[in-house]
Amino acid sequence: MLPSPTLAAPLTAAVSSRSFLADVAQALLAAPDAETLADLVVIVPTRRAVVYLKNELALATPEGQALWSPRIAAMEDYMVERAGVQVEEPIALQLRLFDIFKAIDPDLQFDHFVGWGGLLLQDFSTLDQHLADTKSIFEYLAEAKALERWQLDPELKTTGLDRYFGFWGQLHRVYLRFKKLLKQDHLAYPGLAYRRAVQHLRAELADVKKPLPPRHVFVGLGGLSKAEETFIGLLRSRGRATIYFDGDPFYLEKDSPNRAGQALRRYWQAWNLPVDDFTYQEHLRGRPHHLRLLGVANASMQGKLAGQLLAEARQRNPDATVAVVLPDETLLLPVLHGLPPASLVPDFNVTMGLSFQSTALFNLVDLLFEVHLTGIREGEPGADYGVPKYHHQAVSKLLAHPFLRRYQQWQDAQADAPQYYKLLDKICQEIVQKHLVLLPATELLRLGHGHPLIEALFQTWDNCDNIIRACYTLIDLLKQVYGHEHGAIEAEYLYLFYTLVRQLDTAFDCRTQRLSVRSFRRFLYDQMRRTRLPFAGEPLAQVQLMGLLETRALDFDHVIILSCNENTLPPPKRQTSLFPYDVLAEYKLPTHADAEANAAYNFWRLLQRAGRVDLVHVLPGAEGVRAGERSRFLRQIEFDLAPQNPDLVLEDQTVDVLVNEELETRHAEVPGTDSDDTSSFLLPPSQLTNDLVLAKDEAMLTGLRGVLERGLSPSALNEFLACSLKFYFSRLAKFQENEEVEEALGADGFGTVVHDALEHLLKPFELESRDLTAADLPAILKRVPAEVTRQLRQEGAERQARPDDGLNHVLGQVATRLIRKYLESLPGQPGLLPLRIAGQEKDLVATVFVDLPGRATKLPVRLRGRADRIDALPDGRRRVVDYKTGLVERRELNLRGTQKPLNAPDTVARLLSESSSGADKVRQLWLYRFMLESDETHPAPPGSEAAIMSLRKIDEGLLSAPLDFITEGTGEPDFRLASAELVARLARHILDPAEPIRKTDDLAKCEYCPYRGICAR
Ligand code: SF4
Repeated sequence: MLPSPTLAAPLTAAVSSRSFLADVAQALLAAPDAETLADLVVIVPTRRAVVYLKNELALATPEGQALWSPRIAAMEDYMVERAGVQVEEPIALQLRLFDIFKAIDPDLQFDHFVGWGGLLLQDFSTLDQHLADTKSIFEYLAEAKALERWQLDPELKTTGLDRYFGFWGQLHRVYLRFKKLLKQDHLAYPGLAYRRAVQHLRAELADVKKPLPPRHVFVGLGGLSKAEETFIGLLRSRGRATIYFDGDPFYLEKDSPNRAGQALRRYWQAWNLPVDDFTYQEHLRGRPHHLRLLGVANASMQGKLAGQLLAEARQRNPDATVAVVLPDETLLLPVLHGLPPASLVPDFNVTMGLSFQSTALFNLVDLLFEVHLTGIREGEPGADYGVPKYHHQAVSKLLAHPFLRRYQQWQDAQADAPQYYKLLDKICQEIVQKHLVLLPATELLRLGHGHPLIEALFQTWDNCDNIIRACYTLIDLLKQVYGHEHGAIEAEYLYLFYTLVRQLDTAFDCRTQRLSVRSFRRFLYDQMRRTRLPFAGEPLAQVQLMGLLETRALDFDHVIILSCNENTLPPPKRQTSLFPYDVLAEYKLPTHADAEANAAYNFWRLLQRAGRVDLVHVLPGAEGVRAGERSRFLRQIEFDLAPQNPDLVLEDQTVDVLVNEELETRHAEVPGTDSDDTSSFLLPPSQLTNDLVLAKDEAMLTGLRGVLERGLSPSALNEFLACSLKFYFSRLAKFQENEEVEEALGADGFGTVVHDALEHLLKPFELESRDLTAADLPAILKRVPAEVTRQLRQEGAERQARPDDGLNHVLGQVATRLIRKYLESLPGQPGLLPLRIAGQEKDLVATVFVDLPGRATKLPVRLRGRADRIDALPDGRRRVVDYKTGLVERRELNLRGTQKPLNAPDTVARLLSESSSGADKVRQLWLYRFMLESDETHPAPPGSEAAIMSLRKIDEGLLSAPLDFITEGTGEPDFRLASAELVARLARHILDPAEPIRKTDDLAKCEYCPYRGICAR
């Protein structure tokens, strides 16, 4: 049932096989006043739709007849035109807005303003586009209740906005002044143009002397802003507007829970629209569709898969129109790289710009800022301009960037500059050889022998003019390389970057505000985020690559939609507004719920006339926590649409991409164009082709047994459970990490300094078997700074980095504080003092003989560990203590959990399989205790203890893990025997041939993994 079923009858009974715009073209030509077609204004949602509709009108015109085409425009362009203004660049708008704020509060710093100015501007735009009563909203915002809540928001505190809450009272004034200022110059921001267009139309209609505006036809619009709605409503009230929505009863019916129909249903009611062909036809339930839900293992495979699906589509029907739709625009480059050969796709069009942020040039600029922002400037605390010393990692990453490497190749080919031969390589080598941790800018310039590239990269930045100059030089140099390569996309990026820098240069030229590097970066990135690299192409090509928004009003025979996962389709619930949600809801401003409804409409509408649809989603299990579940739209297809359409074929597959040779073979194999073999290009998951899976064959098993016999530490075991492939790389293949400059105090080095300093401070008590008492502490505390410095020197000497340099110096201070705090806490820890230290940095070893299937002899599995400290308890038992410089929570050591405690066998299962921060630590404590009691030379008495001393949670004292579940869960009352059984189970798991060595499913584990390059993670 449609919302207004009693109105006009449908024009045709059968479901039209034409596209929506073809139907509209027919309707325009068939209308009784077709002769006045030229006087019509037809408004469509996008510029792309303008091109398509013009084409459909040309096709629909009877042969031999000439036609005066109506005026056809995209909605946004038309509103700006009706407003009679020019939309100003965002940079210039922000600077104007700042001037107004500054006039009200002369103390306002530009750096603070940059933090929220852009967002506020966007909010102004939204208010205007939705014709909001700004006075009332700003008053509401100024009320104490709203402000209280805002002050609690830590994010806003960092922007400095909390210091300007007084401004909320002034905001309306600022808004009015801003509008007035823009009006004087006939300028506007986008939302303001919409408001002005409505105001002008209202005034025009009220003026009886003016003729009525031309008749408007609004075509294929979806969710409208309030300004658009009002604009159309005003024209309708004078009979000057006809509306053709493209809808489907599947989601338009009154009781449909589908959000896709939310906006259209409302317009139907408000405007009392007739039921027409455009909304009556049952496209989704009444015509055949072949839909495939295709799951892939990771997001990066989607580009390649899209290419293969496209090839398949073209082979099946070379005349079909195909759209590859990318709800996630960052996939554009992978999709472009994965396109089939020109023989299959001779022509295609990209109807979306390439976001500057996904380009390699953006990455280069980002690395350049990283160099300057992570450097330090000694002697001028608080200043963030000028960085005389840069961090070696940032410098090395920058110098390794492909753009700079390409520049070096070009430079090496210049015969007249032999002094610069392999310049970047030489600088990198020098950094590694001399172990330069912090690189003085002067040193880098010296190494660069005056080359302009090195000067552009490492000259000190004292103001934004320096940054702009560096960018210009960089562009000029890189232009020499890419400018001569015909059609190089890099040359396009460079030109775009040049225009951005130029805009900023002009905008800041005559201004007195001093911008920090961070603020300048923010400003620049803001512009880069908005900038799109446009593509030229045949606009009506049969193959289109487009974003979901660009598909509005268009239809294709075959649609391939990527990223059909929650948080992409529909988009995430992210609120990009300074205004709290309740203000948006109260004043009916758009919220994420509206964004969801719009995405739903665009999605379902696109499916209406598509015969074949491929919906690609990333499998959540494979992508770990980052990939959302498959999109709710796919579930709606499965559980709502499919049962209602008997002609709908739905396939749900997990697929893998083909490697190039296989693809070529399959191209050759695929029968004629009528082929309906839908799986011909897709591999089932069992034939994984591009994943690293290593079988546990005899050679692998021998290697693994060797590792177990030589000694398995708790951390090695944790590594295996986290990612067996990483374990293989580091313990079996023994891959070396890249040669790198090592700083004294990386995470490892910092821990070593703390451990070694503590060991030396407590050594006399260990050697003399003397109890440590509270009376000994003052003397020990005095020795802490000197001991830390000594350890720092030792570390520094080993790694050739200066202990008092920059970050190292700071971390040394932190180490001193941690150790002091820890020692001071000892008297307060219940029952700890007097403390008898039985040993420090002691090796622990235990051997478990494990029965293996098919082997006559038991395998001696050796466990190894190193105890930071072993305490001799007064009752004869021992306690192994592990110092941790990281944070440890007491609750994570309770493996049973507290809310709904697990039973003992399930807790044992967690202990043997789970890879998490808590499980890793409990395993370590368990094995330490087991080794302590089973030590081959000095076994401790039963009932000994293992505990963690977290130096970040000193007040918590010693943290131990409840281990009673081990005896309870195994049914073996003796802790040592029960533990030996569990160690045997773990060993059998490691050696199980049915479990290949493979990548972890949890991408978070790959984040800091040194083997990411090998794994392509
Ligand atoms: S990158 Fe990830 S999958 Fe590869 S070895 Fe490291 S943790 Fe395992």
